[in-house]
Amino acid sequence: MSPVRIPATGDLPESILASLAAMRGEDARYREGRTWSMIYYAGDGHHQLVQAAHDLYLAENALNPMAFKSLRRMEVEVVQMASGLLNGPPSTVGCMTSGGTESLILAMKTWRDAGLSRRPWLRSPEVVLPRTAHPAFDKAAHMLGMRLRKAEIGADGRVDLHHVGRLIGRRTVLLVGSAPQYPHGTVDPIPQLGELAARHGIPLHVDACFGGFILPWLERLGVVMPAWDLRVPQVRSISADLHKYGYAAKGAAVLLYRRIEDMKHQFFVTTDWPGGIYASPGLAGTRPGGPIAAAWAALHAMGEQGYLERAGEAWQVAERLRAGVRAIPGLHLLGRPESPIVTWAADPGGPDVYAIADLLQAAGWSVDRQQAPASVHCSTNAVNLQAVDRYLADLAEAADRVRSNPSLSGEGQAAMYGMMAKVPVNGLVQREVRKVMEKMYGPDGAPPELGGEALPPWAGKALDLFDRARRRVRGGRG
Ligand SMILES: *Cc1c(COP(=O)(O)O)cnc(C)c1O
Repeated sequence: MSPVRIPATGDLPESILASLAAMRGEDARYREGRTWSMIYYAGDGHHQLVQAAHDLYLAENALNPMAFKSLRRMEVEVVQMASGLLNGPPSTVGCMTSGGTESLILAMKTWRDAGLSRRPWLRSPEVVLPRTAHPAFDKAAHMLGMRLRKAEIGADGRVDLHHVGRLIGRRTVLLVGSAPQYPHGTVDPIPQLGELAARHGIPLHVDACFGGFILPWLERLGVVMPAWDLRVPQVRSISADLHKYGYAAKGAAVLLYRRIEDMKHQFFVTTDWPGGIYASPGLAGTRPGGPIAAAWAALHAMGEQGYLERAGEAWQVAERLRAGVRAIPGLHLLGRPESPIVTWAADPGGPDVYAIADLLQAAGWSVDRQQAPASVHCSTNAVNLQAVDRYLADLAEAADRVRSNPSLSGEGQAAMYGMMAKVPVNGLVQREVRKVMEKMYGPDGAPPELGGEALPPWAGKALDLFDRARRRVRGGRG
């Protein structure tokens, strides 16, 4: 295929929009409630309002708050609303970011620099965090020259406090907990982590990227969970994503600090550029105005009542999912029921989770496969209400089919995931996935095959290697 070129003269708007609509038809069907991650949809009416707000600020640039004072004002108000929701004291400050990943990179940078300001001799500042913490921390550590010390989790998905205590050392500059962690939806024991942080004189960051805009409403609806936000006095910073349960447009999150003395380590200023003095709070230079305005609009449009209603509906979906999964022989739930996340796994000797996942995907569901242990993640939303019974019926049928056809485990993506769980060489999967990315982003880059029926290109070779390794082991023993 020859590469696409910029057209010599502009296409007609109608034809451009028609092409976009057609391309979009191939994507995950979130409006029908077929996605259980990535999409946080609060209905068509809300969507249109957020879209209109985004449109109004399409061209504006929050890089320079002097030129676009309205954007700075909205950012301040969004931070204040978030602080109110997360029980911040009056000293609370913060900023908007492009999403959870940027928030976490910035938090890591802030606490690295704060740590280095007290201990400039530190070579490799360390962060102690649960094994379930989001990979954005790994990405940040990689970029910032920091080292992660990962603590194990208990059977209920909460971080093991004894292990955390053992991992904290002289190089630790930050302790992290999640509210909730993504894989199982469990809220880490933040008050106890706070005590550990205080005992060792280190800051505690709570990653509430997922839960920041839904746990407060669930608590008000009576869902029991440990204190997890700025109520816990040792929590020094907290991240919460507006583009998840804030029902804002994508590209919006907040990062809050208990006080400006901490946040100051986040800022970047340079004064010797011929282009002038340059100061920036976050990672971006040019900052789109659309997501800021859309987030501001979303908070105003929802109001407490709107959020409470949406949270109640998401919880209803979660409760129905939990009850439904419990009723399916061979399956069980992971984690604690204190967030809108429902994660199911198979009993020992039960049906292969990944083979079930393949069947669900073939039936038109967007499936979020997890590992260690093999499980499937469902983030619930009001939009899933229409689909939850259908999902449970398809899940029960798929579990049944896999139980009577164990060979399905050797097909489709199940083969690859099953192999990954057993592969003796860790670096192999990493290398092969990197190759897939190089192919996807290479000159002939294309999206991966839809449907997921075909074995990914690298899995064949990996399976082969695995088989040979297994035979060698067997041979050695025999
Ligand atoms: C989504 C998420 C993040 C990362 O946020 P992005 O907006 O995807 O960059 C971080 N932590 C948790 C717990 C999340 O769920």
